[in-house]
Amino acid sequence: MREIELEEPRADEVLVRIAAVGLCGTDLHNVKGEWQRPTPMVLGHEGAGLVEQVGSKVSSLRPGDHVVLSWAPACGDCADCRRGRPAACVPLHRAIAAGTLVDGRTGMSLDGETVYRGTATGALTERLVVTERVALPVGNEIPLEQAALLGCAALTGIGAVLFAARVEPDTTVVVVGAGGVGQFVIRGAHLAGARTIVCVESLEARREQAVRLGAAAAVSPEQLEVTMLELLPDGADYAFDAVGAPETTALALRWTRSGGTCVVVGLPAAGARLNLDPGEFNRREKWLTGTMYGSEDPAVALPILLGHVRAGRLDLRPLLGPTYPLDQVNEAVEASLGGSPGRVVVTP
Ligand SMILES: [Zn+2]
Ligand SMILES: [Zn+2]
Repeated sequence: MREIELEEPRADEVLVRIAAVGLCGTDLHNVKGEWQRPTPMVLGHEGAGLVEQVGSKVSSLRPGDHVVLSWAPACGDCADCRRGRPAACVPLHRAIAAGTLVDGRTGMSLDGETVYRGTATGALTERLVVTERVALPVGNEIPLEQAALLGCAALTGIGAVLFAARVEPDTTVVVVGAGGVGQFVIRGAHLAGARTIVCVESLEARREQAVRLGAAAAVSPEQLEVTMLELLPDGADYAFDAVGAPETTALALRWTRSGGTCVVVGLPAAGARLNLDPGEFNRREKWLTGTMYGSEDPAVALPILLGHVRAGRLDLRPLLGPTYPLDQVNEAVEASLGGSPGRVVVTP
């Protein structure tokens, strides 16, 4: 725990008092050293909080508003931003790799030295300055610990189903991995009206969670073949790799039916490569694609998710795991690394 300096909000920025931050696989990649990132860095990008101060040009937010943070403070000007996909913005991804915002600054320092921002955010802190565009109003009905999950896991997992794969009703789905994102893929498939959802996950507590969330079966990787031959012998209409390792993507593609769609959702470790049989794509006409942050502008997708929450179709409570105060952030990271079935949340 260190006290850092924050720059004052600029005209188009807001100061957010952070109330809750979910720990995401992306944070764990950094903790495990699977990505090269500059340090010192404030991790955390799945945040929710209250607006405390607004810049002079901010019109959509007022102090006291509850907000969920999008981790895509994109450039606003590139081809991907113009097609409504701020999370695919190349300047944003360069900035994320450099630990900064798109303009190269971070607005955070420690004893005069730059402090870097995890995923262009850096939410594991009491207060954070972000641009108005990425502080998305969430209303006052949803507790902020639950609302935080919307900021990455839900937008990513449900978005993968609704906006990337566009899952149709009465179809079949395989989900590889039942961590935070995989659990929201299951909920998304349920929302989309999928008939049968099969989950493969190596941790027993997460398999139990997957069944509670609507999977018809949740099995270990060793049991998958027997289960699929029983339930979906031709494979599933859609398969989602919520892990993002080469072997999990291969498994998802293996159990995608001919003509079906396989979606890579989880982020791979740096340098990962896929080794695939091209016959999967011509002889069997499978589609392999991927999604970043749910393949929709978070400002568009979040109100859709909030609609499902308010209508009672999406209950966030079962997806929430243990919460830890900020000074126990290391225990929180340990719990997340240990495979907590619910999302581990830090409450500054
Ligand atoms: Zn995330
Ligand atoms: Zn852009």
